[in-house]
Amino acid sequence: MGGTGLRGLTVWIHVLGCRSNLCEGDFLAGELEAHGAVVSRGLEGADAAVIVTCSVTAEAGRKCRQLVRRARRAVGERGLVAVCGCWAQAVGAEDARELGVDLLVGSRGKSRLPAALEAMMNSSASGGRSFQDLRSAPLDEGWEEMPLRDTGLHTRAFVKVQDGCDHFCAYCIIPFLRGRPVSRPMENVLAEVRRLVEGGCREAVLTGIHLGAYGRDTGSSLAELVRAVSGIEGLERLRLGSLEPFSLGDELLGALADSPVFCPHLHLPLQSGDDGVLSRMRRGYTAEGFARVCDAARARLGKDLHISSDVLVGFPGEDEGAFQNTLALMRRAGLGRVHVFPFSPRPGTAATRLSAPVSPEVRDERAGRALALGRELLEGYAGRFIGREVEVLTEEAVPGGRCGGHTPHFLEAVWEAEGDAAPNEAVHIRVSSAVGGRLEGRQI
Ligand code: SF4
Repeated sequence: MGGTGLRGLTVWIHVLGCRSNLCEGDFLAGELEAHGAVVSRGLEGADAAVIVTCSVTAEAGRKCRQLVRRARRAVGERGLVAVCGCWAQAVGAEDARELGVDLLVGSRGKSRLPAALEAMMNSSASGGRSFQDLRSAPLDEGWEEMPLRDTGLHTRAFVKVQDGCDHFCAYCIIPFLRGRPVSRPMENVLAEVRRLVEGGCREAVLTGIHLGAYGRDTGSSLAELVRAVSGIEGLERLRLGSLEPFSLGDELLGALADSPVFCPHLHLPLQSGDDGVLSRMRRGYTAEGFARVCDAARARLGKDLHISSDVLVGFPGEDEGAFQNTLALMRRAGLGRVHVFPFSPRPGTAATRLSAPVSPEVRDERAGRALALGRELLEGYAGRFIGREVEVLTEEAVPGGRCGGHTPHFLEAVWEAEGDAAPNEAVHIRVSSAVGGRLEGRQI
């Protein structure tokens, strides 16, 4: 429990980046409220700003800098700007201070942020505010527990179960910013999911930076966690966040196949479909290996399993033939939704030292082609549901109007409500179209 020294103050929270950051943002919002603050999603009138930052791409870093400047202007000289997360872990202290940051917290130690903000607000009120850098927490610290206080926030709850990565893909800065893999104790995960379910939540998404590494440090495994969470009474839907393809072995597939609540959707980042590029990326699998993982997943989890993915285009050494291999594998693997990222080197990663860079013009042209194929694949995948009945968990509901939600296969669906419609209710619709991969139908 925190103090109440932020009572009457409005704190703006903004989250950039991945689902792990979203979980941490929800945790911080709950803690700040427990310290007496009113948490706001708008900057106007805010006394302090908290930004959960991201550094996965150069663009993400640029956004962080912009947001800090905006927040600084909005809270004025008497207000405070606190940043935490990946960008905050990497930024120089002097740089941050000049941008307008007052409180700097890195990738670990975020649970100390609310108390530090409270102490700084108090000393600021008595005229003694100063810059603080709390990044002393070593990155190899163990699990930092960040339980959610308000468990009734969303239809779908993201439950952070793992942090850190030691895979060191050549393009990725994350292992340097989040440290080695650490796992949330299983009993804490189970307790949080139980509280979420008691709070009315029906769907939980287990989330991590390198989710497949769950349990490696605690003598457990993701498969064991899936089996345990699946047994929680009242939980109706269970999903996994992004999972590295090399993490999807027989044991995990077995646990997912046995789970009565696992939703048939996996997000397996492909990145490239060319063996040469995959090896330069240090991904740890081949194109054929990725295709085999997809086949094995469909054999255990059903032929309608939705496999979504990420593709990184324009990595050094990617020639036209290599890019064609990626397009071919996207088809061969039967991917659904595909996110396409144009490669840009992150300082400090191995990819900056690789030869044969791809020009931005060629990279962007390839990104366009990959996106076009992604749209075609998603529409083709979604099209198989036309004429079928699907269950949707309502996320947006306008009584007597248009409703929206997701199917178990994680396809977006819209329909006209018949009578009363309420968020978080499961309805059934008969699908009549799948334009752009979005299902549309009639409630039945
Ligand atoms: S597995 Fe690779 S891409 Fe994923 S966080 Fe680790 S280093 Fe980054």
